[in-house]
Amino acid sequence: MRISSYTHLGMVRRNNEDACLVIPPWSGPAIERQVCLFAVADGMGGQNAGEVASAIAMKTVAEWFSANAGNAMSVPMLEEMFSQTNSAVWGYSQDHPETSGMGNTLTMMITWGDKALVGHIGDSRLYRLRGDSMVQLTNDHSLVAEQVRLGKLTPEQARVHPTRHILSRVMGSRQFVVPDIFETDIQVNDVFMMCSDGVTGMIEDARIKDILVENQPENAAVKLVEAANRAGGKDNSTAVVFAFDQLPLAFPARYSFERLLNHLFNKVNAGGV
Ligand code: MG
Repeated sequence: MRISSYTHLGMVRRNNEDACLVIPPWSGPAIERQVCLFAVADGMGGQNAGEVASAIAMKTVAEWFSANAGNAMSVPMLEEMFSQTNSAVWGYSQDHPETSGMGNTLTMMITWGDKALVGHIGDSRLYRLRGDSMVQLTNDHSLVAEQVRLGKLTPEQARVHPTRHILSRVMGSRQFVVPDIFETDIQVNDVFMMCSDGVTGMIEDARIKDILVENQPENAAVKLVEAANRAGGKDNSTAVVFAFDQLPLAFPARYSFERLLNHLFNKVNAGGV
């Protein structure tokens, strides 16, 4: 696999409430479990509560992975992961009233062998570039996206609508959540990209596709975030790009030169501020 991830404050905000989690094939937990995981969370809430929410969510997903990931993942297992993560964020806000009402989006994909499961809540997105065609695999859980699905708003109206940031489903703001969880097929040379709305609010899908086509996967996340910042950078922006160059997924041996090369040449990091 070839992977990049990057998160950035943007040009306007004072703190970064986005977070991402990448468990690449050359990481210890992935080698042990023979599974990879990619996730983006966009936090919301007063003061710095959004940062707290997205950090708790990523930590909980990582802990769940270490305890549960394996070669027989199922929809109910991911439902349990969303439930645990929601409880962690919800529980923290119950114990810390200054964070009351905080929450976060969570878009994640877990992949093993030649299989992948996607879990999603909120308006972060997962796209797949296959050949010449890029599709958005997740549905935004926002009020305007629902109006678009009902035919009451056009996508162009939704992009600039004053209430476009209001989410219809979010992690951590209620005791229970209903995530979208689905299997998705993967093919050799597929490129997947997940991102927060700081990317998609600033640059349109056509531009996102151009960036994915014109750049190597190990550079594309930074390029997407830079493009969002050049377009105004009004929100924190985060992108995770991962490309399948062989299937079934291969995991390097723990003590191998291949593992070191993967570690050195892919750009998996949380980025600067
Ligand atoms: Mg955002």
